[in-house]
Amino acid sequence: MVQNTDLLIVGAGAAGLWAAVAAGRAGLRCLLLERRHRPGLKLLLCGNNRCNISHAGSAAELQADYGEPVGSFLASALRLLPPALLRERFAACGLPSKVLHDRIYPSSEKADDVLHCFTDQLRDLEVPLLLNCPARKITPLAGGGGFELQCGKLTLQTRFLLLATGGVSYPKTGSVGDGQRLAAELQHRLEPFRPGLAGIEVSDAWLCPPGSAEAGVPLVRLTLVSRGQTVAITEGNLLADRTAVRGSAFLDAARIIGRRQLDAYELVLDLFPEQTAAGLAQMLSRGWQKTKQAAATLNACGLEHSLARGLAEKFARLFAAGSFCPELSQALKSIPIQVRGIRPLKEAIVTIGGVSLADINPGTMESRLQPGLFFAGEVMDIDGPTGGYNLQAAFATAELAVSSICQRLAPAPPAKAAPSPARRPAGKSPGDKKQAWGKDFWQKRPR
Ligand SMILES: Cc1cc2nc3c(=O)[nH]c(=O)nc-3n(C[C@H](O)[C@H](O)[C@H](O)COP(=O)(O)OP(=O)(O)OC[C@H]3O[C@@H](n4cnc5c(N)ncnc54)[C@H](O)[C@@H]3O)c2cc1C
Repeated sequence: MVQNTDLLIVGAGAAGLWAAVAAGRAGLRCLLLERRHRPGLKLLLCGNNRCNISHAGSAAELQADYGEPVGSFLASALRLLPPALLRERFAACGLPSKVLHDRIYPSSEKADDVLHCFTDQLRDLEVPLLLNCPARKITPLAGGGGFELQCGKLTLQTRFLLLATGGVSYPKTGSVGDGQRLAAELQHRLEPFRPGLAGIEVSDAWLCPPGSAEAGVPLVRLTLVSRGQTVAITEGNLLADRTAVRGSAFLDAARIIGRRQLDAYELVLDLFPEQTAAGLAQMLSRGWQKTKQAAATLNACGLEHSLARGLAEKFARLFAAGSFCPELSQALKSIPIQVRGIRPLKEAIVTIGGVSLADINPGTMESRLQPGLFFAGEVMDIDGPTGGYNLQAAFATAELAVSSICQRLAPAPPAKAAPSPARRPAGKSPGDKKQAWGKDFWQKRPR
């Protein structure tokens, strides 16, 4: 039985890896447990293996972008680890980053490098990582003295426990809902799981006409309408294949549909958000003068061949009418999309639902029901839009959880502020947050 750890971290994904490095840096006796044979399997898939680690903006801007209730819940975590500081931390560990359209990526654009950045630090800090080690049962020790954790045949005891087991999408990466089950066994409420950032199935044949494998548009605008009210407007790319439409505009819309649990809704697509209807009419007119063909006209306006062909068929009546321009440009800027459904949770980029935010203190990430038990990342009912928000949330909540644990482990300040010869100079106490979590704290250690 391993008995003398300060902190057991369950799950070596984005949140658990960040937490383990932070705990190692703070000098905690910490052990990281992972149910799969490798850490960070989902991290490796992120951003098409380029790993969009965060999103440019201030803590307040990001908080607004998450939307409620997630934004308010993440406020303290984002203030502690805003994107600029996150970049500094990675840079100090040898992983410089760059910003592409407000999305933050490692300069190498390799998810591998992000994972190695973590595993190199764990090695240097001598933080042990146990693989193939699924946590199965948590038993609180009598008198609030910590926890006993069963992992296969191992029984571990710890003072603090951090659950960072992820959501339930892409289960092959290891996130299968264990953390939520363990939390529920300790009386935490769970919000039902729903797909966030998932593909949208449509009946519109023009989006992927027969003979084309995939179609894309770099920038579209999507208006989500429910019961006659505009619920949200999303912008980004469109990627359509035979099963569903993806791309950030559609993924973000799917997240809002899931978060708000909309049952009746419509999607309206603007294929030319940067053009006014009048400007688009002029473009169409110029294209028609040159080509005198519907598909070629749409292609001349920037739509790729397969989409241009599909739309030429859809709007054949307007083209046939001859003076099609004003009507057609309006139509291309507001195409109703016939939604059949949202792709299943196992394919979603993020899980909506999980451990209820009502049972977690947002200022510390500690359970409100079980003192000493902390949460980080997607195991909680948090999710964000596309663009690096989900990793940012995983890293920031992990940072806050470990920072809170460090404060709890720090020696209590003297009862009276009376000066004493033995008193340490200001800012030099082992529990001092500034010193423990300042910039130098994350300097890369020599190999
Ligand atoms: C294809 C894809 C692309 C994505 N791209 C991006 C992106 O570019 N940017 C972005 O911000 N977000 C992206 N995301 C979302 C992001 O990956 C997640 O939000 C993030 O990984 C959540 O981190 P986490 O640590 O909470 O969970 P995870 O990364 O899922 O890690 C949880 C870990 O816990 C382990 N575990 C589970 N149960 C147990 C147990 N009982 N015992 C021990 N270990 C356990 C799992 O094996 C896993 O390793 C993407 C997701 C997917 C699926």
